Amino acid sequence: MSRLVVISNRVAVPKARGVAGAQGGLAGALNSALKRNGGIWFGWSGDEVAEFTGEISIQRAEGVTTATIDLAAQDVEEYYNGYANSTLWPLFHYRIDLTEYEREFGRGYERVNEHFAESVRPLIEPDDLVWVHDYHLLPLGERLRSRGVKNRIGFFLHIPWPPTRLFVSLPYHDRLVRTMLEYDLIGFQTREWLESFLHYCQKELGADVDEDTGRITLGGRTVHARAYPIGIDYDHVMDQAGTGDARQAAQRLLASTRHRTAMLGVDRLDYSKGLPERIDGISRFFDQHPQHVRDLVYIQIAPPSREDVESYQKIRTQLEQKTGQINGARSEVDLVPIRYVNKGHSLAELCGFYRAAKIALVTPLRDGMNLVAKEYIAAQDPEDPGVLILSRFAGAALQMPEAVLVNPHSPDELSHAIKQALDMPREERKERWDALIKTVRDDNIQRWTENFTGDLASLPISQQNSD
Ligand code: UDP
Repeated sequence: MSRLVVISNRVAVPKARGVAGAQGGLAGALNSALKRNGGIWFGWSGDEVAEFTGEISIQRAEGVTTATIDLAAQDVEEYYNGYANSTLWPLFHYRIDLTEYEREFGRGYERVNEHFAESVRPLIEPDDLVWVHDYHLLPLGERLRSRGVKNRIGFFLHIPWPPTRLFVSLPYHDRLVRTMLEYDLIGFQTREWLESFLHYCQKELGADVDEDTGRITLGGRTVHARAYPIGIDYDHVMDQAGTGDARQAAQRLLASTRHRTAMLGVDRLDYSKGLPERIDGISRFFDQHPQHVRDLVYIQIAPPSREDVESYQKIRTQLEQKTGQINGARSEVDLVPIRYVNKGHSLAELCGFYRAAKIALVTPLRDGMNLVAKEYIAAQDPEDPGVLILSRFAGAALQMPEAVLVNPHSPDELSHAIKQALDMPREERKERWDALIKTVRDDNIQRWTENFTGDLASLPISQQNSD
């Protein structure tokens, strides 16, 4: 079995697993794949230094070797806050209105991808499988090839791939995608994002594309692109759901809501999650069904995210204002309809909240997959499960059609879905949940890791790489 070299922006060391805001399931799955196959996880330490030195810090913990580099403050600003999170993230989530196109961001992105390639190159051995993750490192495969790496290199994109008509607004878009064709296998969360990518390659680059197999050929090189929907670490989530922390969290929530139905949202504070739109939908529900104001409470857990980026500061202010307005208008001395919690919680606590909440609102405007939707299903009581209200525009909707699917832009649809969830008989809740839990349990993160690495190891690869 080949060793695995995982490369991602940040490295989640085993001890960080389960910590609020950490990569959770993904970190766990990659760590177990690394333990099984041997290998290294390489990325940025998260630390900033005055100037980039290229010094690599190697650590071994719980059978996994991690190798990290520090980045210069300017790199973090231009590559991480800049190109990754102010250019690619909004564009890939269909928000060209928020996308910033600064030359320095592009330069910083290229520079850091060079740093990554230069630093990780000596750690790669001839038979290793190399697996690069996410939008921070789109061109890394090409940077490695130019340094003579002939290994099989796979890439997985955790976020959506935008439609061609939006993507072409990115300066030098063709140059960026051509670098991606140096990978051997490119994975997307869903068929929808995969189709957008194939469409781009065909229409804009003139590549020969076989839509059935995902084979893309251009200039004598062949790369495969496929959909691999990511799942949760089902066993780990079930373990956490069974802990005392989870039980305590559930009790805290139930005790504080008493006879009222708890409705829950858990999202990083990100404009892609549709939080102001969700609050509008809840407000519409209270307008249309005033009889429910006293028996429904909405709890929004929203840990802050990317606080150095301006659009994130704005969404936070916007959400605080909206929540304040609705609570101001609808609160009584003994009743606050919306609880807004601006901090992160551990997976165990979240599992307790999931279990206590009879309705989950997962309504992103656009999301690569959405793991909260899957965790919510995993944590339910099989005999009396809650209802998942899920955005049609989350990648998870394609795998979870038995959820109550909604258009998150429509307050009326959200209001209607909340009413439907409140009134849903137990029999229907169980039927929907039975179907959903199968997907969540079977299409788990271990299967995802095996599918991707299995294909990467066995696909026929481009002649140009193997000579
Ligand atoms: N999460 C957490 N603590 C929190 C809020 C979220 O550990 O307070 C975890 C959550 O359990 C889930 C992940 O963060 O595993 C969020 O993943 P998702 O795919 O829903 O959204 P992302 O944040 O990756 O866009």
